Amino acid sequence: MAHQALEVMTATHHKTKPDPETLQFGKTFTDHMFIMDYSSENGWHSPRIIPYQPLTLDPAAMIYHYGQTVFEGLKAYRTDDDRILLFRPDENFKRLNRSSDRLSIPDIDEKMVLEYLSELLKLDKDWIPTYEGTSLYIRPFIIATEPNLSVAPSTTYKFMIILSPVGSYYKEGIAPVGIYVEDEYTRAALGGTGMAKTAGNYSAAYKAQDKATAHGQAQVLWLDSSEKKYVEEVGSMNVFFKIDGEIITPSLSGSILEGITRKSIIELLKSWGEQVTERRISIDEILNAVREGRLEEAFGTGTAAVISPIGELSWKGEKTLINQRETGSLSRKLYETLTGIQKGRIEDPLHWTYEVK
Ligand SMILES: *Cc1c(COP(=O)(O)O)cnc(C)c1O
Repeated sequence: MAHQALEVMTATHHKTKPDPETLQFGKTFTDHMFIMDYSSENGWHSPRIIPYQPLTLDPAAMIYHYGQTVFEGLKAYRTDDDRILLFRPDENFKRLNRSSDRLSIPDIDEKMVLEYLSELLKLDKDWIPTYEGTSLYIRPFIIATEPNLSVAPSTTYKFMIILSPVGSYYKEGIAPVGIYVEDEYTRAALGGTGMAKTAGNYSAAYKAQDKATAHGQAQVLWLDSSEKKYVEEVGSMNVFFKIDGEIITPSLSGSILEGITRKSIIELLKSWGEQVTERRISIDEILNAVREGRLEEAFGTGTAAVISPIGELSWKGEKTLINQRETGSLSRKLYETLTGIQKGRIEDPLHWTYEVK
């Protein structure tokens, strides 16, 4: 992609900012957004920041019919000395390109897009909340826009970035959740789109989430699609188990989404000299370890919650408590370390933060 000057059209009207104490996830958006277009003749072009506004698309736009779309999710944090920090944003744009490749969407220039995002963040800096535990959620995404009902990749796309101030995931402090082990629906199959952040993976998970809710559990634990035996992910998070001192997370099978929090936790644990293993782990192995008192902790990992301890497993009508439904010491230490680095409050030994200047 040729280097193209960013056009900036600032908003004349500024919206009222939501109360940081009662912020909900993803319901309010800032004053501006980023947008650029793709055509097969011109590649990605016309990068611009414009006032936040609705889109007008042809009803035949391919996104509406065949779901050719990818997205990302990351957060901007405001430090105590008023700097803007991002957490490994290069990893998000690399992953966006991996998702795009799977969905036959043209790739973006990762470095340029990070520059565009930085400009957008500087313009909407006042929207990054400072209240404890809050941040500005960043949603980059690409949609297929060609008006054409043929089942084939679009020749035109839009790449956009929208920003949403979000509240603390843990209003009452980090707390374990109950998990429903799903044995009917599966999230992703080998060779499918599980490794991509693409819309259909999420809408296809709602039925299982409804079941989990009906069983009084907060999240779904997904098993592999062929044998319904091996653990894949929990909700939209990666998952870790600590058994006999060893920290285990399912290996990237092709159907698991490669989380940046997952990757960071593996690197952090290794830097602490902990034994961390990426391998297949079955639900039977986990339940046996619980019964024998060898399962010390379990937790989900992702950008939204960072660490979400698992306090209970519900499997084929049987409920099993994990760590007496208490937050384990490893979960707590990982949560405090990662959020401390993200907020610029503690040292960043692995150089993960990116300062927007
Ligand atoms: C985004 C996502 C994750 C977590 O990825 P992070 O980069 O850590 O936020 C895990 N699983 C699924 C299905 C996801 O969509």
